[in-house]
Amino acid sequence: MAAKILDGKQIAVQMREELKGRIAGLAQRGIRPGLAVILVGDDPASKSYVTAKEKACEEVGIYSSDNRLVAATTESELLGLIERFNQDPKIHGILVQLPLPKHINEERILNAICPEKDVDGFHPVNVGRMVIGQRCFLPCTPHGVVQMLVRSGVVLEGAEVVIVGRSNIVGKPLANLLIQKSRFGNATVTVCHTKTRNLAEHVRRADIVIAAAGCPRTITADMVKEGAVVIDVGVNRVEDASAKNGYRLVGDVDFEAVRQKASMITPVPGGVGPMTITMLLYNTVESAERAAEFR
Ligand code: NAD
Repeated sequence: MAAKILDGKQIAVQMREELKGRIAGLAQRGIRPGLAVILVGDDPASKSYVTAKEKACEEVGIYSSDNRLVAATTESELLGLIERFNQDPKIHGILVQLPLPKHINEERILNAICPEKDVDGFHPVNVGRMVIGQRCFLPCTPHGVVQMLVRSGVVLEGAEVVIVGRSNIVGKPLANLLIQKSRFGNATVTVCHTKTRNLAEHVRRADIVIAAAGCPRTITADMVKEGAVVIDVGVNRVEDASAKNGYRLVGDVDFEAVRQKASMITPVPGGVGPMTITMLLYNTVESAERAAEFR
């Protein structure tokens, strides 16, 4: 029997409805959550991500400050803008869209965002807090994956999870979340990467496979255990002459074939993507609530 499709859009709608309730609660106290979105340059993919994030803010009632800067913006100009938002009480979250132009040091920029407004969860303070299980902003894609699993009734406790990919924004934080001693963790996690000796052997053991390699068909049906849950984080453009813009988006999983063996699977698009944006909204609302506690 073909796998159940885990519909990220549907779970995202449900979570955004919950957020609207929290935003209404804040409004009663005279607070509107605010997100500053900063884009440097005119990379088309980055532009479309930023537009989607701003649109999502508007839909749930979060104020978004749109800052589109020319590619020639200097590092010190960008640092100045971040500092302004760090001080601005109307802004609860600051998002700098990556990648930045080569002449700007990404690490210096991310470290300049005050950890209390780091709604992407990339600041070393938030990363450290996450690792030791303290209250922090969780990075959006890993947190979205965990929410998706839990809300779909997947049992994490004791599950064998194999993550393919060890990046700082997906693979590593995801592994950290899933091993936490909590109801969103308690899994046994293996992280595979380009130097892993026998990828298929590891993946075959998994109750839950999470692909975040950035390469189409990294996970094929012969590598997947019957009944496994398969989460596809990958987003890859492949040429498609029949598509309007000449390409289509696929994940890292050979979807049609793997679907025949898995018990649940996420599509691309429409799987993890909508959850990532939702978790950004979630962190911004969370940040506004925390700021309200201190008022
Ligand atoms: P990355 O390039 O930084 O990391 C990829 C990782 O995969 C590396 O650690 C590498 O070692 C590993 N890898 C690559 N090929 C492999 C192979 N054949 N076998 C084993 N390991 C392999 O990428 P990233 O930023 O982590 O993103 C991964 C993918 O997820 C990309 O396609 C990206 O577009 C997508 N992504 C999607 C979302 C979303 O919201 N849906 C968010 C972030 C990233």
